[in-house]
Order: sequence, then C-alpha cells, then structure tokens
Amino acid sequence: MFGSCYSSKAKHERYGMDTYQGLLAHWLSLVRHTPLGVICDLDGTLLPFVSTPSESRLPPGLAVKLSELAALQGLLLAIVSGRPREDLERLLAPVPGVWLVAEHGGWRRSTGAWEATVDRQPRDVEPLATRLGQIAASVPGALVERKTWSVTFHYRLVPEPERAAMTVAVDAAIEEYLAQAPGFERLEGVKVFEVRPSHMRKSIAVTWLREQLGAEARLLAFGDDLTDEEMFREFGVADESVLVGPPRRSHARWRLADPVAVAGLLDWIAATRCGQAEASPQLPEPLTTPLCGAGSIRGRYELLIVSNRLPDLRRATRPREAGRKRNVGGLVSALEPVLGARHGLWLGWSGRITAEQEPGPIGIDDELRPVLAWMDFPERWHRSYYNGFCNRALWPLFHMFPQHVAFVDSEWDCYQEVNRAFAAAASELVLPETPVWMNDYHLLLAAQGLRELGHRGPLGLFLHIPFPGPDLFELLPWAEQLLDAMLDYDLLGFHTAAYVDNFLHTVGALSPAKVSDDAVEHRGRRVRVRAFPLGIIPASFQEPADRAVADEVDTLLRAITPSRLVLGVDRLDYTKGIPERLEAFGRLLELHPEWRGRVSLVQISVPSRADVPGYAEQRRRIENIVGRINGEHGEGAWVPVRYLYRSYSHAHLAELYRAAAVGYVTPLRDGMNLVAKEFVAAQEPKEPGVLLLSKFAGAAAELRDAVLTNPWQADGMARDLDRALRMGLAERRERHRKLLAVVSQTTAATWAEDFLEALTACG
Ligand code: UDP
Repeated sequence: MFGSCYSSKAKHERYGMDTYQGLLAHWLSLVRHTPLGVICDLDGTLLPFVSTPSESRLPPGLAVKLSELAALQGLLLAIVSGRPREDLERLLAPVPGVWLVAEHGGWRRSTGAWEATVDRQPRDVEPLATRLGQIAASVPGALVERKTWSVTFHYRLVPEPERAAMTVAVDAAIEEYLAQAPGFERLEGVKVFEVRPSHMRKSIAVTWLREQLGAEARLLAFGDDLTDEEMFREFGVADESVLVGPPRRSHARWRLADPVAVAGLLDWIAATRCGQAEASPQLPEPLTTPLCGAGSIRGRYELLIVSNRLPDLRRATRPREAGRKRNVGGLVSALEPVLGARHGLWLGWSGRITAEQEPGPIGIDDELRPVLAWMDFPERWHRSYYNGFCNRALWPLFHMFPQHVAFVDSEWDCYQEVNRAFAAAASELVLPETPVWMNDYHLLLAAQGLRELGHRGPLGLFLHIPFPGPDLFELLPWAEQLLDAMLDYDLLGFHTAAYVDNFLHTVGALSPAKVSDDAVEHRGRRVRVRAFPLGIIPASFQEPADRAVADEVDTLLRAITPSRLVLGVDRLDYTKGIPERLEAFGRLLELHPEWRGRVSLVQISVPSRADVPGYAEQRRRIENIVGRINGEHGEGAWVPVRYLYRSYSHAHLAELYRAAAVGYVTPLRDGMNLVAKEFVAAQEPKEPGVLLLSKFAGAAAELRDAVLTNPWQADGMARDLDRALRMGLAERRERHRKLLAVVSQTTAATWAEDFLEALTACG
C-alpha cells in the first residue's frame, strides 16, 4: 500500500490524474476551498534543523509569507509543534493571526491566551527531567529541554563515538521512569528522545481546528516528524496531508522534498486565494494511494448503507484507537453498531472533486469502522447535482419554499446520472441479494438504477427532510417520473406520520399506483411506507464536559452574565428561520422592556452551503438584523444578541444547552431537528430550561410538551418566548420529565434498528 518514488507519469495515473493539469486542478479545488485549515509542523517542515532549538530563526521572507496566509479570509493557519510555548511565541512573533499548538498538543492558543489541554501536574515528569539532566551534564553536546508536562533529550551535537554509551544511559533512565509512570510514553524524534503524557498528541490540533471551522472545512497539513503521523491519521478523504523529507512509510498522501518546497507551496496557496497565482507551481508528489480496486470485495459485505456524503471519516475510529473518546454525530453512532453487527459497508461521496469529467474509481478503506467506500465527484456533479438539483430544487421544494426553487433541465439530467452512478457503485460493492439502505433526497432514483442492474435484495430509502403534499410536489416538472422511481424501493421511511400522509396523498394524486394506509401497490410490487422518527444518543449530551471545554463555555457565559441565556443553534439555512427568530427576540425587548439587560440571545450559526445562491444572502440578512437589534437595544455592558458564525463540538453544545434558560428552536420547516432533542437530553432535571419549539419541526410531533410556537409571526413568538422565560420550576420540571421520556425512548439506535428490521422483512 505504501509507495516510495514514482516516475511522474505513474504517480499521476495512480490518482486518475494523467496530466499535470489534472493534478493542478485537484490542488486548486483544495486550496480555493473555504473554510480551509492549514496546519504546519515547525522544525524540519517550515524550518531546517539547526544544532540546538534556540538557534532557530524564522527567515524574514518566510515570516512575510506566513503573515499573508494567516491574514486571508476563510483560511486558518496553525503551527503545531513539539516545542514549548515560549519558543513558538518567540519564533512566530512576526506572524500575527497564526494559531499555535505547543508541546505536541498540550497547549493551544488562538487569538487569546494559551489554554492547556492536559490534566497532568507539571511535577509528574520532574524525576525523569532531573535524571536526564544528570546524564546530559556528563555528555558533551547533550541538552535537556524541560517543557510543562514532558521532557526532551537532544543529542544532535553529541559526537558520534559518545552516542552509544549515552543511548544506553538514557534508555535505562526512561525505561525506569515509564515503569512507574503508566500515563507517559516515549517518542523517538529526530536526534531526540522525548517522554510525554500518552494522551497528549498533535491530533488534538486537528480536532480543534475542525471544531472551529465546522463540518465543511477541509484541512491541509505538512509535517516531517513521526508525531505528525498522529495528525495525518485523523484526516479524511477530503483533506490532504504532505510528508516533508525523503519518502517513507506514512499516512500522508503527498510528499514535498524540504522546507523550501513547503514555503513555495504556501506562497502559491496565498497567491491563489488572492487570484494571483503562477500557472505551474511545484506541486507535491503522491506518496500513497487511498484508492484501491473495489472489484474483489463484492460479496464480502452483508449490508450496504449509502448516503450522498460519507460520515466524517476523520472522526471514525481505526481499530487501534478503540476505546478513545470520540465525538461523532448521532447518525454515525447509530449506524456503526448496525453496520458492525451485519458486516456492513457505507458508500458515499468522499467530499473530494476530481478534475476529470467522470467520477474517480471507487475507494475503500476496510481499516475504518465503519468500513467506508467512496467516489470522488467530477466538478460538474458537484455543481449540477449537489448544488444544483439537490439543493436548489429538491431541498427548497420538499421544505415547502417554492420561492427558492430553480428547476433546470441539465441539473435534472445530472441528478439522474449521479443516481445511476451510485446504483452502479452499489452493485459493484455488494451481491444482488444484499439489503441496501439509501439515505435522503440525493438518492430518490437510485433504486430504479439498482433494479435495472438486476438487484434482487431489499431496497430501502429513509428521507431525512420533510415530504410535501401534492399541491407543492406537482410544481416539480418531473414529478411523476420521480415518484415512479421512488416506488422501486421496497421500504420508504419518513420522520413523521404527517410526511407519510403527504407522500401517500401525492402518490394517490399523481400516480396510477394503489395507495393504502401504510403501503403502495405498484407494478405488481408492494412498497411499505412508514414513519421512523430519528432520535439522538441521549447519553452523549449528558456526560460532564472535560475541563478545557467547560472553561471555554464558561468564558462565553461570563460574557453574558448576569443575563439569562436564550440559545439558538442551527446550520445557516433559510429553512431554520434565523432572521424570524431574531426579529421575534427584538419584539420581546419592545413588548416586554423588563427583559432588557436580563436576557441575552446566543445564536450559533454553522456555515453551510455557502456556494448555493440564497445562503450568502441569508447570512448578510442575519448579520444586519443582529447589528440592528444590538444597536437599538444594547446598553452599557449588555449586548442583546451574540452571534457566532462557527460550529461547536457536541461537548460544547451540551454545556451550552445545560446553561440555557430557553432552547430557542424555531425553524420555519425542518425534517426533524435534532437540536431540540439534544437540548432536552442535556438539561439538568432538577433545574431544567424550557424548549421553545417550532410547530413546523418534525420533532414537534413527538415533543408535545415543549412550548410550541409559530415562527411565522414575530409577535406570537415573542409572547411564547416571554412565557417560556417566566415559566415556574414545577411546570418546567414536569414538562422536561415528559420530554426526556420521549427523547430517551426513541433514539438514534432504535431508529436504525427499526428501519433495518423493516427493511430485512421486505426480503
Ligand atoms: N451541531 C454541531 N455543532 C454546532 C451546531 C450544530 O455539532 O455548532 C450539530 C447538532 O448537535 C445536531 C446537528 O448539528 O446534531 C444539526 O442537526 P439538526 O437535525 O438540528 O439540523 P440539520 O443541520 O440536520 O438540518
């Protein structure tokens, strides 16, 4: 699997990029992506090695390049190093805006103060530091570097003849220490020995950047050291990792020769994002291939799950990391056991765009859990199918926003093509009798393609968004064709009974099929149609946060104290009703001035689909309203609305949910809305906050004890918010008890099991 040096033709072919132009397009799609996180190791990657760490200097030219990069919109530059904080502060002082991770992830600093990520005591490593200091005192050139929690023994300057005896002595000291300090581990670096707490890893930086940049971010990392592998291993197929130095076995996908080549590439990235790039930069060469033939695996898996986008690979576990705490979404947590128990496989888009006209070959990684298979998309698919038909036709139509739809013939053609391609990929991966579970509006036609390819096993589709009634569905120029293809599934699942009714009415009105309460008969086949409400994994919102998370949330909460917290959490999408929610909050302050200075709204908006028209406009609208409300109502230290355009981890959200007096969950229309359920799960039962929930979220069908509100009317919503804020403890507890019972009973896990049971019963 691991390559060394390839001729340039061979290496391009391995990536399905048989020209330099192909390679260039691949890199351009990454470096133009927003948000983009660029992570660089320091020694050996940005700076050449020198005799002692204190001799390193950042050349002025490089400082200018890094500063330009760090100042770019939509790009975050982080330097991740094993060095102590003081070294990074000294070396990177001329680069404002750069984020720093010191001591292999033990410390991190964004724009404010350093934060520790380790719960060890600095004195824990003291005995070893003392012992190594004694050894160094007797070996010319040896140097001991004491960091907060770790210690490094440098021997670059130790003359060769002295090294054997020195190594024996250092080895013995380290082994003796590790025998009585089980939470520590030894690292081999470049001419250094190092001992550090075993959970302190550079991969902390990857998780951190992801949390800051959101799910749509792509990452690019450069590193030369073995500790950099900790980051590379966390990367998903949409990210890129570059080994710096001679080829070796590595999790990185690409290689650059030395720090000079890294500086050149960083320069090109900055220029590209400013629209001034040179036409033919020196690009990294492929080091390994993530793609391998899928042909031989047919028959090995007994269940196939397909979704347009793969779950976040970076958060999936590899077997050797089993047992480490993870932060994955409810869907992955729910499907992982199902896939594991049935020896299943998950297929989807890698998130990567190829320069070719056709999709890349199917890739598969069976070391991951769940096992994942993927396709890279040609750019035209991303444009016409994903951004086009899926997000400009089906998404707004199914959410009942006809004013946002665009029906374009070529996009419909592309949608059919991609659905056929998913069907073909599925039939390459599994045998014709294997159950296949498709997910969501991206794959409405895929069963038809699979049937044409001779698939005989059960085919199910779960739709994660609403389904409209016939009056709206009929707006779609291809309504009948689409319904007909959907009826090639054996099982159609929706979040709520109302969507099931809408579907059955639509079929009754627009198709010759015979409709009953829970099924449709069509072309001699029976299609079961049922509601399977998706839930969450409640326990993952009930665990106490670790210290770093609690501190970060505390800082945010201190900023609004003493006001009570009203919390909104959404992807930035017009269906979520964020402007309407803000306006209603403004009305609350007008209608009930007694709340001024006593409540603050924190609105978290996760960047989403920034390249679909309408989303950027939505963002501007929200920012305007926030500015207006704060301008009109803010006074002294009180800022009525805090708007955070970024994403948070589930651990952060759980803390925020718990701290909120009101969960302000008011989409104009939403398939389910998991935030509502997460809010309920996270509450402290003795002192719960109130869930203010839109009637038009699928979750409202189950969460009847929330305060239900109509987000289409600002005054009404302001009144409901006032009521939620005034609700007494006894009523809050009673409502929360009932809500928690619902959320605990119908979870992500029961959802997955129920759907799968119904699907296999179709066989
Ligand atoms: N979410 C997150 N970080 C954030 C904001 C949201 O991880 O900063 C998660 C949230 O916990 C929930 C999901 O994103 O699990 C949103 O799901 P929901 O059904 O509410 O809306 P969707 O985005 O799927 O339309």
